[in-house]
Amino acid sequence: MSAIDRRELLIRTGQVALAGTAIGALAGCGSDGGSASTAASTAAAPPKPTTTTPAKPAKPNVAELRKLVKGTVFTKTTPGFTKARTIYNSAYADVVPLAVVRVASVADVQATVKWAAEYGVPITARSGGHSYGGYSSVEKGVVVDVRRLNGIQLGNGTAKIGAGANLWEVYSTLANKGVSTPGGSCPTVGFAGLAQGGGMGLASRKHGLTIDAVQGANLVTADGATASATSGGDEDLYWALRGGGGGNFGIATSFTVKTFPVDQAAYAFISWPWSAAGEVLAAWQDFAPNAPDELTTICSLLTTTGDSPQVTVIGQYFGSESGLNQALAPLLKAAPGGQVSTGTADYLDLIQRWAGCLGKSAAECAAYAPTAFAAKSSYVTSPFTQKGTAAAVSALEARQGQPGSGSLIFDSYGGAISRVAPTATAFAHRDVVCCIQYLAYYPPGAADTANGWLKTTRAALDPYVSQQAYQNYIDPKLENYQAAYYAQNLPRLRTIKAKYDPNDLFRFPKGIVPAKS
Ligand SMILES: Cc1cc2nc3c(=O)[nH]c(=O)nc-3n(C[C@H](O)[C@H](O)[C@H](O)COP(=O)(O)OP(=O)(O)OC[C@H]3O[C@@H](n4cnc5c(N)ncnc54)[C@H](O)[C@@H]3O)c2cc1C
Repeated sequence: MSAIDRRELLIRTGQVALAGTAIGALAGCGSDGGSASTAASTAAAPPKPTTTTPAKPAKPNVAELRKLVKGTVFTKTTPGFTKARTIYNSAYADVVPLAVVRVASVADVQATVKWAAEYGVPITARSGGHSYGGYSSVEKGVVVDVRRLNGIQLGNGTAKIGAGANLWEVYSTLANKGVSTPGGSCPTVGFAGLAQGGGMGLASRKHGLTIDAVQGANLVTADGATASATSGGDEDLYWALRGGGGGNFGIATSFTVKTFPVDQAAYAFISWPWSAAGEVLAAWQDFAPNAPDELTTICSLLTTTGDSPQVTVIGQYFGSESGLNQALAPLLKAAPGGQVSTGTADYLDLIQRWAGCLGKSAAECAAYAPTAFAAKSSYVTSPFTQKGTAAAVSALEARQGQPGSGSLIFDSYGGAISRVAPTATAFAHRDVVCCIQYLAYYPPGAADTANGWLKTTRAALDPYVSQQAYQNYIDPKLENYQAAYYAQNLPRLRTIKAKYDPNDLFRFPKGIVPAKS
């Protein structure tokens, strides 16, 4: 499946006849149909995630670290180091940590945090390794890999999820009991990263973002102590972890989430001729945030290897296929000429369909396929004017023919997402029409072209979007990132950061800066 983008696969399996062959990626688990590579791009590689640390008290003693933990400590000289340091975005494949600690317990996390603080070694946590900016790795630092803490226990309407579980493990374990929880589509994304920054997916207009399902989390803070972030426990941390973004406040070891019962859901794939792209985007922006909560849709403009790009809408509906068709009617009326394919599926089958692994084994669904990409994001607070849709269409056309792929992916908000107040959790982006992801996969040597396209495209759409951006699509090149990611919640987040991590042990280039005392 590595050579097939998730988007391409789901369109194929949805039997939507589309012109063109290579389809650019959605927020998916793949690249552009084979042109991107798992190797780091050599030309103009992005800056390595590094942190500046206070004066080191002594040379870091890795032998001592090995004695302190029960898990495995990988270093340059131990077998398996290359695999252990591999993260999803291979644009950062050349980042070499001092050590990767695959922790076996919460106590291992505590010991590693204390060790890093003592020696002034940069430290970062890793769950699924899908940070867009490669922030779950750090040059010459220590990576706390929580992958082995992946147990999932079901309660009554809740589930306790180990911070190392990936989405495939979460969805498949919960589906066995006829329940689910809101999350994204890519099965190898880590629950811990997703659940701290937001968690947008095809269940979100009905059931909220992943953070909205989080009832609590356990974590290890910068002093090596454990903390319980719940409404009855540490309220500040509970608020901050729901939208504050992974890597800022401590190392989460588990989450407790609400689950919802689910058996089946209906799905839709719609494609239009490229000549209708502007009309579709305009119609979709009016329609999507006002559709029934049961329906979450994503509109994508995608490059192809053919003559013209593609415009598509996918949707998931909690209800019958006829209910879905009824719900879609206003969109299809406003943007006629779409080729529509709908159906009903068992929920796990649908999860696999979105993941691009329908009919595949569990191992294939959970296979890790690193690739090089860069991305940006924006929020739309009122539907684009005609000039705005024209700018989006032209921008996508400009990427057509460049090496790699390009896409503009519009995730619909509204529904349950927008009923939560912007200050109720640390996630401020509530009252919006949609989120745009500008996404470019690229082959070796084409990083500059991809980043150039992203920059130009973001600038072209600037008049039509707000200055906010999605913290889970963390962008190493975004300058005013704290305001963009946290808006009015930033001062409180910085105060909480100062309370729990006054020395900024968990620092990274796009991290929350502690408030000055
Ligand atoms: C292919 C792909 C598809 C995606 N699809 C979606 C989607 O459908 N919806 C959506 O909302 N987002 C999506 N995302 C974005 C995703 O939510 C973020 O990239 C998320 O941060 C990834 O989490 P992770 O655990 O896999 O990544 P990691 O790289 O492991 O972690 C991300 C950040 O969180 C920190 N972190 C990791 N583990 C912990 C921990 N235990 N405690 C504290 N901090 C931790 C890391 O240090 C890093 O800063 C997608 C990303 C990719 C690459």
